[in-house]
Amino acid sequence: MKKGHIPIRTCVACRIKRPAYEMIRLAVLEKVLVKTNQINIGGRGCYICPSKICAEKALKKRLLQKALRSEIEILPSVQSILDRSRQKGVCG
Ligand SMILES: [Zn+2]
Repeated sequence: MKKGHIPIRTCVACRIKRPAYEMIRLAVLEKVLVKTNQINIGGRGCYICPSKICAEKALKKRLLQKALRSEIEILPSVQSILDRSRQKGVCG
């Protein structure tokens, strides 16, 4: 990897591209949505902006299910991560 290279990811809700480190990475493990920053957790992952608007849109329109191509259970803990994400400084 080149020094200074920043991976860019697209938000599943608003489709805006941002540096990966600004995003929340979500993956599905055993049909449960988890938040992870580990790329190698296995399975499919997707990214979402740390914004309440995107979180609500993703949850309401089932965009996470579409992006991850699976029926997933969204645990209250993940929902609260998304909820909390409207506050700035949520990282990792
Ligand atoms: Zn977004």
